Amino acid sequence: MTDTAMPAPMTAQPTEHFDVLIVGAGISGVGAAYHLTHQCRGTSFVMLDEQQSFGGTWRTHRYPGIRSDSDLYTFGYRFKPWTSAPIATAEEILRYMGEVIDDNGLAGHIRYRHRIASASWSSSDNLWSIDAVRLDTGEPVRFTANFLWMCQGYYRHSEGYTPQWSGMDQFRGIIVHPQKWPQDLDYAGKRVIVIGSGATAATLIPAIAEDCAHVTMLQRSPTFFRTGRNAIEIADELRKLQVDEAWIHEIVRRKILYEQSVFTRRSFTEPQKVKEELLAGVRAYLGSEYPIERDFTPRYRPWRQRIAVVPDGDFLQAIARGKASVVTDEIESFTETGLQLKSGKTLDADIIVTATGFHLNVLGDIDFTIDGEPLVFSDTVTYRGMMFTGIPNMAWVFGYFRASWTLRADLVADFVCRLLKHMKATGTRRVDVQLRPEDRDMPLLPWIDQENFNPGYLVRGMHLLPRRGDKPEWQHTQDYWTEKDEFPAMDLTGPEFAYR
Ligand SMILES: Cc1cc2nc3c(=O)[nH]c(=O)nc-3n(C[C@H](O)[C@H](O)[C@H](O)COP(=O)(O)OP(=O)(O)OC[C@H]3O[C@@H](n4cnc5c(N)ncnc54)[C@H](O)[C@@H]3O)c2cc1C
Repeated sequence: MTDTAMPAPMTAQPTEHFDVLIVGAGISGVGAAYHLTHQCRGTSFVMLDEQQSFGGTWRTHRYPGIRSDSDLYTFGYRFKPWTSAPIATAEEILRYMGEVIDDNGLAGHIRYRHRIASASWSSSDNLWSIDAVRLDTGEPVRFTANFLWMCQGYYRHSEGYTPQWSGMDQFRGIIVHPQKWPQDLDYAGKRVIVIGSGATAATLIPAIAEDCAHVTMLQRSPTFFRTGRNAIEIADELRKLQVDEAWIHEIVRRKILYEQSVFTRRSFTEPQKVKEELLAGVRAYLGSEYPIERDFTPRYRPWRQRIAVVPDGDFLQAIARGKASVVTDEIESFTETGLQLKSGKTLDADIIVTATGFHLNVLGDIDFTIDGEPLVFSDTVTYRGMMFTGIPNMAWVFGYFRASWTLRADLVADFVCRLLKHMKATGTRRVDVQLRPEDRDMPLLPWIDQENFNPGYLVRGMHLLPRRGDKPEWQHTQDYWTEKDEFPAMDLTGPEFAYR
């Protein structure tokens, strides 16, 4: 495939053609571009993103303290060593991604401030037509591509999810969602309530607590937290020995992945023991007098929701110092001065932060049509959480919940590159995934088993997601440890792939 100019389109704007169009310049999109340049040399591609620059999640989120809750040895790419402390700030992650772009000459492939509005597949041309708007000029632009690589992430970047509570309009203070943190927000000396107890709350609170009069974390129910030093001993040791950074990266990745696999397995085989260990980590900072049972003991077993990491216990230290506190209760309504809780208690605040999550965003809020028919994504069945029945020439990156997202972005990239090379070698222009005869009676289930994993944004958006079957081929197994072996072994000539 080559970068050929397309014939003049019916519309006024010029059309550019690329072999591959990547949606999104976050960690997945930049990784996709790296793999394309290294594994599919000569393939023309463009990456579109509506933001002003690369980074996705790490550019959108600007609240104080924003950092990863995965270690960067595994959240970083397989191919680019991470050389500092494992939990990283957004700024460090952006710097790391910037280096990948610079070192591999990717900048020229990226078009920022391009919002994609629609994507239409034509079976007669075996092409995608992608309509975007340039946000800097308002100009419509059109691209055609043979293959669409969806790296749009999983939530809407334009706004976070804020439930509607009665009386919100009466509150005289400021209501802020962390996804839209005003850079000039003055919280010094202010009373702040943070609604929610996920990773965002645990990151934000220690970052602002010293400056605020007080921060109260209000949660409906507790979350599991995992404490530990923000350092990896073996990495520091190897560095002292002047071992090559590429080796350190690989060794530390293997160590972390091994430990994570043990931890995940234990969360299922001995959940009570894991639970006690996690609670002991919290108790070590808050002391035996603290009502851990009330504020830090979730109703679910470990790993049914993502476990928030608290490096060096900073969030718990803020509580121990009295700069922050936790209230486990429910909101009855907002009042002029703060919150009325269901227990009858009231909380006063100058600023209320709604760390209440995301709007699930399937397919980048892009209107898809296939041969003129609107695509109903939820009618499709997923092939290994990355391709879908009825959607030709398209791959989708959806990472892991219990392991770093990028581990899967790298695996999906290897698969896509292999698929593109296979199509080039066989002279085929279209690939579909299809149920095999033995799959025809397979039960079709919701995208994810809620018994297994059930964060709010997924539960709220489950009806928008594709269905899964009961075989590994037809689901996103969330299991890095099997996928890392299964993906490279996938037979691209198997009956689940139809080529034309
Ligand atoms: C605060 C926060 C912390 C997180 N920490 C971790 C962590 O530590 N470990 C982990 O594994 N996961 C973490 N996650 C999950 C995280 O989102 C992913 O791991 C990862 O960053 C996703 O990368 P991505 O490139 O797939 O998507 P995103 O980072 O969401 O980037 C998608 C990009 O696509 C663009 N885009 C989408 N639709 C369109 C469109 N229609 N037109 C043009 N552009 C479009 C967006 O502008 C965006 O730049 C975190 C999430 C959040 C919100």
